[in-house]
Amino acid sequence: MLAIDLKHPLLPRTPRQFGLLIDGKWRSAQEEKVVERTSPAHDVRVSVYPSGEVADAEAAIVSARRAFDIGPWPKLKAAERSRVLLRAADLIEQRAEELALLDTLENGKPLTQARGEIAGAADLWRYAACLARDLHGDAYTNLGPAMLGVVVREPMGVIAIITPWNFPFLIISQKLPFALAAGCTAVVKPSELTSGSTLVLGEILLEAGLPPGAANIVTGSGRQVGAAMVRHPAVDMISFTGSTAVGKMTVATAAETLKRVSMELGGKNPQLVFADADLEAAVDAVVFGIYFNAGECCNSGSRLLVQREIAGTFLDEVVARSRAVPVGDPLDERTKVGAIISADHLGKIEGYVTDAAAAGAEVRLGGQRLAAERGRFMAPTVVAGVSPEMAIAREEVFGPVLAVLTFDTVEEAVTLANGTGYGLSAGVWSRDYDTCQTAAARIRAGTVWLNTFMEGFAELPFGGFGESGIGRELGRHAALDYTEIKTLQMHRGPRSDWWLPRAQGAQSPLGSQATLS
Ligand code: NAD
Repeated sequence: MLAIDLKHPLLPRTPRQFGLLIDGKWRSAQEEKVVERTSPAHDVRVSVYPSGEVADAEAAIVSARRAFDIGPWPKLKAAERSRVLLRAADLIEQRAEELALLDTLENGKPLTQARGEIAGAADLWRYAACLARDLHGDAYTNLGPAMLGVVVREPMGVIAIITPWNFPFLIISQKLPFALAAGCTAVVKPSELTSGSTLVLGEILLEAGLPPGAANIVTGSGRQVGAAMVRHPAVDMISFTGSTAVGKMTVATAAETLKRVSMELGGKNPQLVFADADLEAAVDAVVFGIYFNAGECCNSGSRLLVQREIAGTFLDEVVARSRAVPVGDPLDERTKVGAIISADHLGKIEGYVTDAAAAGAEVRLGGQRLAAERGRFMAPTVVAGVSPEMAIAREEVFGPVLAVLTFDTVEEAVTLANGTGYGLSAGVWSRDYDTCQTAAARIRAGTVWLNTFMEGFAELPFGGFGESGIGRELGRHAALDYTEIKTLQMHRGPRSDWWLPRAQGAQSPLGSQATLS
């Protein structure tokens, strides 16, 4: 039985109350309804946010539109915008413990891990501040002496940002600072399960000097608030991270008003382990890859593809190390795997394992929820003997459940790796250069890690192929995605090219003389 410490000094005695941030002011929802969030590990009420409605989303959009059309945010010098983003990064660091605790209490992730996410998020705000200073267009001086072509980049407009519950603060920080760096204004809808840290970010942005309306935050359900943002004609672009199913709906709705979309969606990511790999490093990465964030991670290495000649011993070691993973109270600093986000989701995870077993797979470890004094926890689970057509091999389980398949050749490994509709990321483990390069070239995924897994850098673009998404976040193009291109064609000097030919030196009643240059 997992022990849960209800007397932990970091557990709040009363839930924290939040408001909506619209036009630089905090307010309650128009219908005064609220969403209460209970800690999935402790079953204690931790946060209360307004349950926004369509009218709240519309008020936020009107504010963001005004802040864009009238300013001042899009009209500021990049240096001034950059200063606000840098101040925000400093304030994020000053309030890091508070932010990490909120994400831990609302999501169930280990506090030690949440601290790392907040530090990573502050780095993203700084990186975006750097990009803001280097956003520029192109000049074309090769169009002949009479023409200068200038391609300018203007901020895209009002961006609706919709985020999921699994990395609440990190994901908003992959979007909002880049949109702001480009000079856009935003309406943000965090997940209704984990809105707290995004609302604290609202306080931080006001303190950092962001003008009213440049970033508005409306909490509430996706169906009400999120859908209203996607439909609204005054929104220019949707930046969405979430499930592929909701992502597809969002793209379809956004198409009605031809909005630009950026979609970061699900994954069913393989780790390919070849017999010649550094197996010590590979086994550690396999265990990390599937249990990090309790497997509730788009990048989760949820499929282990292992070469048949080492499959037996490698799998034994995966099982042994999985058994040793410390699951428990997220506030305990020794914990590596915390609670599962909701009771429904835990049932869904167990269902995948039950169905796989019924289809002939072998549950080598775990397979069901863990007995705990409070909250909901899933046992680290390893399912072997999986075949490619099983749901556990194709669909996103989004839990600490590893599906194991075997292969003989590089060809077969690549075919298995590409055998789902997803294409977010993959890991390849081999000491052979050719194996690594061949697999990396042929795997259809936005990120391929070679002899490492799930490392992330602000400098490197991130996003998916296929049903894992549209577009890329991070990297030096991240802020460019929030810009629109405008072409200026500028004639210089006397005109030499007439649509209706004119004689050299002919006088015009308009007072000009035709000249040839
Ligand atoms: P979800 O799709 O259920 O919800 C995501 C967001 O969309 C939430 O804020 C939700 O309220 C909102 N939403 C729901 N219905 C909506 C609608 N009709 N219109 C507009 N918005 C709506 O996803 P989730 O369960 O919160 O998150 C888990 C999913 O996110 C997983 O599939 C995971 O792979 C994916 N994810 C992807 C990445 C990535 O970068 N590729 C990162 C993290 C999570």
